[in-house]
Amino acid sequence: MLGDVRVRSRAGFESERRGSHPYIDFRIFHAQSEIEVSVSARNIRRLLSFQRYLRSSRFFRGTTVSNSLNILDDDYNGQAKCMLGKVGNWNFDIFLFDRLTNGNSLVSLTCHLFSLHGLIEYFHLDMVKLRRFLVMIQEDYHSQNPYHNAVHAADVTQAMHCYLREPKLANSVTPWDVLLSLIAAATHDLDHPGVNQPFLIKTNHYLATLYKNTSVLENHHWRSAVGLLRESGLFSHMPLESRKQMETQIGALILATDISRQNEYLSLFRSHLDRGDLCLEDARHRHLVLQEWTGDIEKKYQLGVSPFCDRQTESIANIQIGFMTYLVEPLFTEWARFSNTRLSQTMLGHVGLNKASWKGLQREQPSSEDSEAALEELNS
Ligand SMILES: [Zn+2]
Repeated sequence: MLGDVRVRSRAGFESERRGSHPYIDFRIFHAQSEIEVSVSARNIRRLLSFQRYLRSSRFFRGTTVSNSLNILDDDYNGQAKCMLGKVGNWNFDIFLFDRLTNGNSLVSLTCHLFSLHGLIEYFHLDMVKLRRFLVMIQEDYHSQNPYHNAVHAADVTQAMHCYLREPKLANSVTPWDVLLSLIAAATHDLDHPGVNQPFLIKTNHYLATLYKNTSVLENHHWRSAVGLLRESGLFSHMPLESRKQMETQIGALILATDISRQNEYLSLFRSHLDRGDLCLEDARHRHLVLQEWTGDIEKKYQLGVSPFCDRQTESIANIQIGFMTYLVEPLFTEWARFSNTRLSQTMLGHVGLNKASWKGLQREQPSSEDSEAALEELNS
């Protein structure tokens, strides 16, 4: 989109990526996509995600997507900067920030957080490479995806920053932990196709085959992030061993977003709290705490609900209530045990409000069948 072009041209990036490291281009397995119709053998070898490929093919067909805020004046930039002054606020409005940055919320926010946490100086990062890395991440999210898009990634990254500021964590995390957490948050849904794992398995999608039907999407997000890390060369000045460690640890954080494994992490966290042996000087324990937070959490917004209440809305309400009751609340409760601050109480308060508003949409008690279906959906 125009906003991305603006960022790229300002930083002097090329409009297309030309990588050379070994990389599997999944499009060659994708028999019926529109991609294959026009793709040439040379293009197939190129290092483009689906999202970027579709975008560039739209561009060449002359059908670029229009944006409502193509030209930004200084007022918008000034307001975006002003918002960044409150980036540690739980009520940070990511949608407003996205509009003020012309759809570049993920790039602007993450770049700001890298600077705020002193990561650029500490790790001697090249600003042009960093910017390019973040632009590539943002572009690999599918803008047509109503939920798992770049704004969601920016939202989760901003939430991660809030957790990192909590006194218990802030006093123990290292710059390395902060770096991994921010990258994992920004990339945790990278190149999300907009369908879930059961769908990929049922349709024999190549990703399901590639990852043997296990944490299919999470593995894909992780491997896509590794691809961008290597391609950007952002950490090429670091020893190979450190880079390998980084890739593995980012993987552990992203794989923890697999909702079907949420209980596993929660039980481990809970048992440490019960025994009182959580030692934040221990890197493994710190990473366990961070893993808790890379899970997808509907955290702060009253979810937008259409005013009419039909059968479908009721079913969505059941799923939302089940999600909050069985996944979000237990996690937030344990977090409040671990760090009983204003933030943890606010988070619990927001879940309560969200649940109440969804319950208001249920005209009748859900049947047990509905609840079971909702739970099945959650666990899938
Ligand atoms: Zn997510």
